[in-house]
Amino acid sequence: MEFRQSSKLAGVCYEIRGPVVEQANALEAAGHSVLRLNTGNPAAFGFEVPDSILTAMTRALSTSHGYGDSRGLLSARQAVADYYLRRGFSELGADDVYLGNGVSELATMAVHALVDGGDELLVPSPDYPLWTAVTRMAGGTAVHYHCDEQAEWQPDLADIAAKITDRTKAIVVINPNNPTGAVYSDELLRGIAELARRHNLMILADEVYDRIVYDGARHHHLGAIAPDVVCLTFSGLSKSHRVAGFRSGWLVVSGPRDHAKDYLEGLTMLAGMRLCPNGPAQHAIEAALGDDSIDALIAEDGRLTRQRDRAWHALNDIPGVSCVKPRGALYAFARIDTDVHRIHDDEKFVYDLLLREKIHVVQGTGFNWARPDHFRIITLPEADELETAIRRIGRFLDGYAQ
Ligand code: PLP
Repeated sequence: MEFRQSSKLAGVCYEIRGPVVEQANALEAAGHSVLRLNTGNPAAFGFEVPDSILTAMTRALSTSHGYGDSRGLLSARQAVADYYLRRGFSELGADDVYLGNGVSELATMAVHALVDGGDELLVPSPDYPLWTAVTRMAGGTAVHYHCDEQAEWQPDLADIAAKITDRTKAIVVINPNNPTGAVYSDELLRGIAELARRHNLMILADEVYDRIVYDGARHHHLGAIAPDVVCLTFSGLSKSHRVAGFRSGWLVVSGPRDHAKDYLEGLTMLAGMRLCPNGPAQHAIEAALGDDSIDALIAEDGRLTRQRDRAWHALNDIPGVSCVKPRGALYAFARIDTDVHRIHDDEKFVYDLLLREKIHVVQGTGFNWARPDHFRIITLPEADELETAIRRIGRFLDGYAQ
């Protein structure tokens, strides 16, 4: 008998590490050097572990080898609560915080605890595809709301409002955004909060890039803007502290928790089922929250800003390609004018680019963007390398047609 994947996986996909990765691995195995611009993994581009984190983790290594509390280490949860209290949240305590092996694990738990078959979550398009994938895996429907490229990729509030039905459970908001790099205005976030309030929806705020905003812009937390709405805020150390491989994240529950008692019991049960998060990585959290080394990287002359700038200019220099300036996060989401470059299948474009130039980017449709006219690159390589790679993408596009 052939073993087949479960029907629960129908329509579930995660193209950032999709089939093209196998081809990239095969090229490397054959001796080629592949420039991997597909995953937001700072460590792969020379970003080192902050000393504060290394010290805290090494110190904890010999004492954190047992199972711990399923919600996570109390002192780390208290440190997370204090961090958000300093950033405008009200009435938070350690019991409102769940630690996990990255946002990925916590988002999976949070959505599974919420969604029944047929329930709907409003998810941005384009999105970070984890959210669509876990919604479908949980038996729900990801209803995509439009983010408007002409308006610096801000979500279209009217579109969100029009897509709310009596099956809608929550609005997913990714801010700063992956893949677009958009940072949402206070006004827009207030509009989203108002919709959630009016329709009794939960907010799932993925803010894993909250400390990576450029040009002196300010990030606003939805949980602080909407203290009267049940809001789950997700973040962690993967990006702001460049330790994605340590798998350390958190989820903070804010708002009227008495309206979510049953849900939170379910979430706590799921936290128990996975036993506990990685021990040593939890010990890094308190130290990490006091570590502001990210600020130098996003300052006007900081490495991440420099790379963002060079990538953005180089992309816009390619004839038939345009890119909205990313205001946060680690990505540029570039548009291909398909009247200039005849592309009907963006996955094939990505695959052909990999085979020819040994550069791995991710197709826009991998982010639940409906048309095959975008691709995403990460802005993590050093500026010269990034610029050279983008020039090569430009040369590849010149004359490429499907
Ligand atoms: N959310 C967004 C928007 C991301 O871009 C990523 C990783 O790229 C994640 C969540 C996953 O983060 P973690 O490493 O904490 O699981």
